[in-house]
Amino acid sequence: MSISKNLQKIKNSIPKNVTLVAVSKTKPITAIIEAYKAGQKTFGENKIQEMAQKYQELPKDIEWHMIGHLQRNKVKYMASFVSLIHGVDSFKTLKEINKQAIKHNRIINCLLQVKIAKEDTKFGLAYDDVLQILNAQEFLNLKNIQIIGLMGMASFVEDKTIIRNEFKTLKIYFDRLKNYSSDNFKPTTISMGMSGDYQIAIEEGSTMVRVGSAIFGERNYN
Ligand SMILES: *Cc1c(COP(=O)(O)O)cnc(C)c1O
Repeated sequence: MSISKNLQKIKNSIPKNVTLVAVSKTKPITAIIEAYKAGQKTFGENKIQEMAQKYQELPKDIEWHMIGHLQRNKVKYMASFVSLIHGVDSFKTLKEINKQAIKHNRIINCLLQVKIAKEDTKFGLAYDDVLQILNAQEFLNLKNIQIIGLMGMASFVEDKTIIRNEFKTLKIYFDRLKNYSSDNFKPTTISMGMSGDYQIAIEEGSTMVRVGSAIFGERNYN
């Protein structure tokens, strides 16, 4: 199937209140343009420099989401244009994003990445780390970032029960954290669900899904 057909099918299968982030990492400009022409305006990338390159070449009404693990020294390359950073998993990174946002006189929206998978390879904060950040006096001084919710990745397993339970955990954390709202923490968004599990994620309360291969086809990393 074509990119636009895939996109249409997925859009028809998700509720209106769920934002679809089309994950275009490793895919060429031509593929993104095809999705864009089919009406898709939100794209996700996992490498800052690749995203910055694509940003330069593509229409400026595209919203770019950084979904990958962040290298602090590269935040500066996306600070002028990124619309949401999903993978924030340390206070240091948050401070760097704030610093770069100040330079561009803007507020950058972020999600805190929480580790819900049991696998060692997945990045993310523990729930207690999240609380520690939100309760820190220094956090309240970061006026140029806005944390709008949480992001999580389920384990890469066949067992749907495991995946569902991990999503349930993220939703529970999200609901609890609503009690900690502040000027720069306004939780509205749960980013969970990818090509293989976005339907389960939506059933468990996701408001934002990050879908790549189901739209653009399998990725070739060679
Ligand atoms: C690559 C990636 C996705 C999309 O994965 P698909 O299985 O192709 O949908 C979603 N989220 C993150 C963080 C990713 O790195």
